[in-house]
Amino acid sequence: MARISGRNIGESTITGAGNGLINMRTEIGTIAAPSAAAGGGIGIIRLSGGLSHEIIKKIFKPAGKKSGKPVPFLLRYGTIIDPASGDIVDEVLVAVMPAGRSYTREKMAEIHCHGGPAAMRRALALTLACGARLAEPGEFTKRAFLSGRIDLSRAEAVADMVSATTEAGRRAAGALMGGALFNKISEIKEDLLNLLASVEASLDYPEDGITADAGRINNILGAVELLLKSADAGKIVREGIETVITGKPNAGKSSLFNALLGEERAIVTEIPGTTRDALTEGLNVRGALLKISDTAGIRETADIVENMGVRRTEGLIDRAELVLMVTDGSAPLDERDFYLFDRLRDIKTILVINKIDLGVHTDFDDLHKHTGKPAVRLSAKTGENMGALAETIEEMFLSGALEDGGILINMRHAEALGRAKRSLRAALDAQKNGLPDDLVAIDLTEALSCLMEVTGENAGDALVDRIFSTFCLGK
Ligand code: GDP
Repeated sequence: MARISGRNIGESTITGAGNGLINMRTEIGTIAAPSAAAGGGIGIIRLSGGLSHEIIKKIFKPAGKKSGKPVPFLLRYGTIIDPASGDIVDEVLVAVMPAGRSYTREKMAEIHCHGGPAAMRRALALTLACGARLAEPGEFTKRAFLSGRIDLSRAEAVADMVSATTEAGRRAAGALMGGALFNKISEIKEDLLNLLASVEASLDYPEDGITADAGRINNILGAVELLLKSADAGKIVREGIETVITGKPNAGKSSLFNALLGEERAIVTEIPGTTRDALTEGLNVRGALLKISDTAGIRETADIVENMGVRRTEGLIDRAELVLMVTDGSAPLDERDFYLFDRLRDIKTILVINKIDLGVHTDFDDLHKHTGKPAVRLSAKTGENMGALAETIEEMFLSGALEDGGILINMRHAEALGRAKRSLRAALDAQKNGLPDDLVAIDLTEALSCLMEVTGENAGDALVDRIFSTFCLGK
């Protein structure tokens, strides 16, 4: 697939973010890929690398008489022509971007052709015939990272933005893309470097009596812990919460599901199931993405009550990150409800006392006290108090994490920051136990290198490859 000619190798323009080896391996040649899914009105073929502008020159004929040098970033109207046969392939708009001022920092070009699969395929094939090779998934953004234009957290935000299905997801991706996490990590790094410098100074000039300062380590630790707090919310906004609606038959499970859909008026997207092969419906509840297995799943959970102890259906509840247990508030509780209360004891659950439009039975008065679970009284039928359920979910999972500019870290960040936290703790313990400063310095240095993994300044090839391989083609 890759057409790596000697010429292409020679023209690699990447100057690095310090990942020399990666540059040698992948920053080779001019790449091309479709950047919009075929089938839309407009299809975009994107090019990056030293040959991009030359390729355009070979296959694009601007309309009109003036065919001088193209103005960067300006869309020009014309036709794509197959240089071998002289065939007119499509009417297009084309833009070129200069090196240094483009997404990747390389020379780039975009061909806006028609979105038909054949038109896009032919335009792409011409770029390949003229010396480009097909890009790997995420390779444009990888080049932007390797050129030092963006750090790894901002590169990841690009993928988040492309896959965001909710407004909260978009906002979180936007904050990261704007460098919110990068800036925060840079601040912490700066403090850590200053601290390390004083520790080093104390090693060189012990007579000055300066030692690692517990207060300063503590402050840095606090900043790392604050970032870590957003990990759960980050997961919930990006990946969603595996949610199961359960309860006795006729309690109103399907009605609740439909009411939730109606309440939020949104976003029913198809998310490929992570724990199951089936598609899962994503429901946006104030920024929390509930992944509710299809309505068949809702019916299936009723079996738990009808055939208590059936293992297959019990598994649904065990995998759930949130259970909405629906009870018919207008009828007294019975042993099936108590069975479920017991079954859900260790599972994050909201008790939904449904059908309040029919009056609430006295049994339900102390349910919250009895079970320790939040309980919401509502009517799925009339919609009364549905907002309270959304509020409870929001409080449970997001608790203010989505406020403006909020940084929501992802699992990779959380893992690296978790290690940074442990190293800072170790440094603090070493300092408190009066261990020599050079030992404290080792832990602090370790913490620093974990922070640099988040931004990608210290990220191995394998990690970088793994991150970009999850991107879509053309991004
Ligand atoms: P499921 O078997 O748990 O999925 O229950 P359904 O959602 O199918 O509801 C069972 C019956 O209860 C249907 O006739 C619904 O119209 C009715 N129902 C559901 N929610 C409410 C409610 O809030 N108020 C009233 N009055 N009836 C409801």
